[in-house]
Amino acid sequence: MKWTKSLIQTLREDPGDAEIDSHKLLVRASIIKKLAGGLYTFLPLGMRALRKVERIVREEMDAAGAQELLMPILQPAELWKTTGRWDAMGANMFRLRDRAEHEAALGPTAEEEVTDLVKSIVSSYRQLPLIVYQIQTKFRDETRPRFGLMRSKEFIMKDAYSFDVDAEGADRSYWLMYHAYERIFARCGLKATPVQADGGDMGDSMTHEFHALADAGEDGIASCPKCGYAANLERAERRLADRADAECPAAESVPTPNARTIEEVAAFFGREPSAFVKTLVYVADGKPVMICVPGDRDVNEVKVKRFLGAKAVVLADARTVEAVTGAPVGFAGPVRPAQADVPVYADASLKGARGVIVGANAADAHLKNVDLARDAAITDYADLIICGAGDLCPTCGQPMELKRGIEVGQVFKLGTKYTDAFNAVYKTDKLESRTMIMGCYGVGVSRTLQAVVEQSHDKDGIIWPAAVAPFAVCICLLDPDRAEVAQVATDLETALETKGIDVLVDDRAERPGVKFKDADLIGFPVRVVVGAKGLANGGVEVKRRCDDKSKMRIVPVAEAAEAIAAALA
Ligand code: ATP
Ligand code: MG
Repeated sequence: MKWTKSLIQTLREDPGDAEIDSHKLLVRASIIKKLAGGLYTFLPLGMRALRKVERIVREEMDAAGAQELLMPILQPAELWKTTGRWDAMGANMFRLRDRAEHEAALGPTAEEEVTDLVKSIVSSYRQLPLIVYQIQTKFRDETRPRFGLMRSKEFIMKDAYSFDVDAEGADRSYWLMYHAYERIFARCGLKATPVQADGGDMGDSMTHEFHALADAGEDGIASCPKCGYAANLERAERRLADRADAECPAAESVPTPNARTIEEVAAFFGREPSAFVKTLVYVADGKPVMICVPGDRDVNEVKVKRFLGAKAVVLADARTVEAVTGAPVGFAGPVRPAQADVPVYADASLKGARGVIVGANAADAHLKNVDLARDAAITDYADLIICGAGDLCPTCGQPMELKRGIEVGQVFKLGTKYTDAFNAVYKTDKLESRTMIMGCYGVGVSRTLQAVVEQSHDKDGIIWPAAVAPFAVCICLLDPDRAEVAQVATDLETALETKGIDVLVDDRAERPGVKFKDADLIGFPVRVVVGAKGLANGGVEVKRRCDDKSKMRIVPVAEAAEAIAAALA
């Protein structure tokens, strides 16, 4: 392919709305182009890279025995009403009506659609297990579309769904997909780590997310350098050290005018934040609850939601706080709140806490010398905080590290949530009716493409792993007007293509410096310079993008194709 015949427009300036390197580079390197917020065109270079990621995904899915299909993006509302998700999906789902006023959604995912499909075809245990998948556009009206392809409104997902006769079968399907994901990301040149994740509305079901570790990642991950435990902070647990708090005298109210936040109160008492218990009032499915955590820790709302089995948990507004505590916001505490029957849940690390300072449920006052067990009516203790660096690994007790990750995929045991709703049953060999057991498995195909760039770039541009590069090789043709030089480039292009290596020939009438800059920006794995001067000096220059200039080699024309193939291997 010749550059002059291609739709490529590299940019020197970063796009104004791009916050992270991969977003800037994808736009500058002419991989994607923004249409509007959260909407991107894959330009021809981007399309080539995307197709390569898709191909890897397809090969690994096929190798795992999954069958490809393609379901409509436009999904009738009835499907979603069957599971109650027409309402539960809320504003995240794009909805529309056809001319006959039939409601539909642009699919954000397809559990309903696929369950309805499989139910209509599968009736016997002989047709199971079954894994189907599709690679297709998904729509989500994200609250904050950002970071280019990372969080867009329209994106490409590979979604697979497994159907099994029993829990053991579902377990096999789960691990089959899990291992396929390990291979997919490795082949894309991505360092992706599987981490335990929160089951969301599916409660305690088993699920792993695959995270490409990167500082720009939106998710926090706690991981243990010793035993390999890794979990999304939404779910990460910690091993607790025993408390040995000394007995304390009777609790005592202390006036603390104008001190509301932990920092203000800590300064007032001249104590560390950990000497305090922070109490927050939440509303869980309409009912107020108090959550107590150590003063230096934050409440993990995902854990609270899971622990309470609640659909929605939100911070209470000022009026509710006043009604529950009997004080303005800032003075909530677990000891004798105004609403005496409000449930009070404390983080497990507070079991045995004595001599701590809490809000007094009265304006401008705190209580010191509080013994939680003695002075407060704690309804229950549970793990309710967000883990931090240094917290002890729940598996082996070593201090954990915090990292950031980009969620590129997720595998999920769904149980019978969807098959129950659709009555998706099969007949056993004894002709008994049983509900199929499901799993679902997503890969963010377009997000993966960007995660590769986030992990693999330098100040000059992208460094594509060969497996997903738009072109493996760029030939910078320095003297395009000289027929004999151009012929060398074309011959080399043909020789490489015969070997199955895709090549872009930069035949523009541009200065060498411009061509080199663009080759580095787009990030072709191998750059070859073909010019009159080089040819006179014995050949063409070959350099890998990941190597520095010192590794550049002059290779005789006759050996060039071999040398380039070797450089790519
Ligand atoms: P997130 O937590 O990042 O919003 P999710 O957990 O809601 O993602 P899933 O429903 O698990 O996403 O979808 C499967 C995969 O699709 C994700 O692992 C992610 O790689 C990708 N994905 C999800 N939302 C988006 C989006 N808005 N833009 C691009 N890719 C996305
Ligand atoms: Mg997910």
